[in-house]
Amino acid sequence: MTKAIALISGGLDSILAAKIIESVGVEVIGIHFLLPFQKKRKIKFYGINVVDVEVGEDYFTILRNPKHGFGRAMNPCIDCKIFLLKKAKELMKKYGADFIVNGDVLGQRPMSQNKSAMKIIEKEACVEGLLVRPLTAKNLLLTIPEKSGLVRRELLYDIRGRSRKRQIEIAKKFGIVDYEQPAGGCRLTEIAYAEKLKKRLELGPLKMDDVPFLSIGRHFFEGSWIILGRNESENKELEKLAKKGDLLIIPEFPGPTALIRGRAKNVQRALELIWEHSKKKKRV
Ligand code: SF4
Repeated sequence: MTKAIALISGGLDSILAAKIIESVGVEVIGIHFLLPFQKKRKIKFYGINVVDVEVGEDYFTILRNPKHGFGRAMNPCIDCKIFLLKKAKELMKKYGADFIVNGDVLGQRPMSQNKSAMKIIEKEACVEGLLVRPLTAKNLLLTIPEKSGLVRRELLYDIRGRSRKRQIEIAKKFGIVDYEQPAGGCRLTEIAYAEKLKKRLELGPLKMDDVPFLSIGRHFFEGSWIILGRNESENKELEKLAKKGDLLIIPEFPGPTALIRGRAKNVQRALELIWEHSKKKKRV
């Protein structure tokens, strides 16, 4: 039986792409990459057999000077897609798949879903002709599975642009009505997050266990990386996340917990920051 690896991001388009390919008689193995900067959310797979694949610290290499640049924040979308498709190609071998499927739609996202970017992505990921984009296939060149008759082009679609109307119609055909709105699940697209991440990267290479800290607290990069809890629950979270080598400072008066990460430990500055942000000071 013909087999395909389908990249499942959690958004409606990737699910539909997988469902369309499944409906034409191909066995689909969904791959859900767990990316370091993806927000945690509950994802429904609508009957697609999906495998979670953890993405490790090698992902961080694309954040340093990505070949194809960043989007509006610190999202290296073209390099990110190349990175993931390279991984998908390795998984093709593992699962004995004939091709890869994703939920791209021509013209939907300015940076990574225009014709020229789509071509570059395929070429640099070494998946030329092996990537079927069922929602927009009729706007693109024939792929190898179409040429060889594994997939019939007339069963695929010609969607382009930002409107979701056609996808919603196709979703209904598959009985999918309770999908999430197009996901803004990637923190790299958020300006405030990107500023923090950029300053953190200036201090040295990022580690996987640094990432959860970037989503909580106030951050100060003054010779060392100091994080202050903004409320009781973040103070607790900092205590929970602290690892060997971190310095945790819990004030004896109402105020933020501080955590200092990294080799440089500017304790004096952390104490000043605790004092500046403490409730006690506000009362004085
Ligand atoms: S939005 Fe984030 S996850 Fe999506 S392609 Fe861009 S960098 Fe990658």
